Amino acid sequence: MNIEVVTIGTELLLGFTVDTNGVEIGQALAEAGVRVCRRTSVADQAEAIRDAVSAALGRTGAVLTTGGLGPTRDDITKKCLADLFGARLEFQEKVWQELLQRMAKYGRVPSESNRSQAEVPRGAIVLPNPLGTAPGIWLEGSRGFVIMLPGVPSEMRGLLINQVVPRLRARAGGSVIRSMTLRTTAIPESSLAELLGNIEKAIHPLTLAYLPGLEGVDLRVTAWETSPEIAADRLGAARRTIMERAGPHIYGEGEADLAALVLDRARQASQRIAVAESCTGGMIGERLTAVPGSSDAFVGGVIAYENAVKIRDLGVPAELIATHGAVSQPVVEAMVKGVASRFNTGLAMAVTGIAGPSGATADKPVGLVWYATMVRDKVESSRYVFPGPRENVRARATQATLFQLFRGLDGSEGLPA
Ligand code: AMP
Ligand code: MG
Repeated sequence: MNIEVVTIGTELLLGFTVDTNGVEIGQALAEAGVRVCRRTSVADQAEAIRDAVSAALGRTGAVLTTGGLGPTRDDITKKCLADLFGARLEFQEKVWQELLQRMAKYGRVPSESNRSQAEVPRGAIVLPNPLGTAPGIWLEGSRGFVIMLPGVPSEMRGLLINQVVPRLRARAGGSVIRSMTLRTTAIPESSLAELLGNIEKAIHPLTLAYLPGLEGVDLRVTAWETSPEIAADRLGAARRTIMERAGPHIYGEGEADLAALVLDRARQASQRIAVAESCTGGMIGERLTAVPGSSDAFVGGVIAYENAVKIRDLGVPAELIATHGAVSQPVVEAMVKGVASRFNTGLAMAVTGIAGPSGATADKPVGLVWYATMVRDKVESSRYVFPGPRENVRARATQATLFQLFRGLDGSEGLPA
C-alpha cells in the first residue's frame, strides 16, 4: 500500500522548524507495511495545500497531512480539504464537549476561535486527541482518503500510533516493511561497492542503500511489503551474503556504537585501554567515556598536542620528531607504547595527524593521519589521508583508530602472548 505525506506549515519552508513529523511518519508507516512514496511540504496557504493534496490523491488515493488544524487564522487545512472533498463543515456537539472538558481540566476558558476546532467535514471520522484541542480527521471520498493530523509533534505522534497505524495496518493486510542495517567503517563507499559486486541481484527483491557518514558507510537492506516471516528470512539471507563478501569491514548491526564494542572486547580480554591523542584532541576518550560503564575498561590518556608534551608525557624521543616529523610512523608508535607503559595498560591507541585547514607540507597533505594501536606488546600502525574539513578528518580518524583496535582484539578469548 502506498501513501503520500504532506506536511503543512510556513515555518517548515522558512527552515525554522525541522520536519520531524515526516521522519516519524515514514518510520511508523513502514513498520505497518505502508510505503510513504512521496513527501511534500507546503505553506499555510489554501491553494498550495489543495494542489499538493489533490495531486497526491491522483497518484495514490491515500494522503496523510500534518499541521494547520489549530484554532488560529493560519490554520486552514481542514477547511481546504473539506472543500476539496466537497464536504461541508459541521459543528459536532460531542467534539465540542470533549474539547470543553479538556480545557476545563487545565483551567482554560475556550475562545470563539476554539469552536472551529469542533467543526468536522461531513462524513469524516474523528480521531480523538487526548493530548490537545485539535482532533485528527479521517476523510474519505471518491478519489481516496486523506488523514489530517495536528502539527505539534507530541500530538501528531499519539494520533499516529494509536489511531492511524492500526487502521492502516488493517488495510495493508498484515504486510510489513522491514529494514536491517550493517555498519562498516574504514572503507570508502566505492571500494565497498566493488567488494559487494552485484549484490542487488543476489538479495532481490530486497533493496540495498549505501548510507555514508562520519562513522563509515551503513548498509541498509529493506524488505518491502511482505509477511513478517518472509521479511525475517530474506533479511537473514541478505545478511549472510553481505557478511561473506564484506565481513571484515563490518563491526555491528543497527545502532551499534564502535566505542561500546571496543570496550566489550577489552573486557572480554580482561584488559584496559589508554589513549594518546594529538589531532583528535580527546575525541577517542570522549567516544569511550560516552558509553555508560566505561570506567572498568578505560583508564585515561594524554592529549599530546604540542611536541613538548609528546616528549615529556609520553616519552617520545625528541630525535624521532626532529627526524621524521610529528606526523609519522615512528612517532605514533612511540606515542602508543609510551601511553601504554605510563598508564600500565595492555591496550592503547594513539593518533597524530594534520586535521587542517593549515599545516600541510609538500609530502604531508591535509587529512594525513598516522594512527596506532597496541594489543599487549603488538603494535600496529596505519597511515591514511582522510577527506573533508577539519571536523570530518578528526571524527573519521577517531573511528578508524577504534576500528583497528576492535579488529586487533578480534573477539577471540585471551590475547596473543
Ligand atoms: P500546527 O498544528 O500547524 O498549528 O503546528 C503547531 C506546531 O507544531 C508548529 O508551530 C511547529 O512548531 C510544529 N510543527 C508543525 N509541523 C511540524 C512538522 N512537520 N515537524 C515538526 N514540527 C512541526
Ligand atoms: Mg501551523
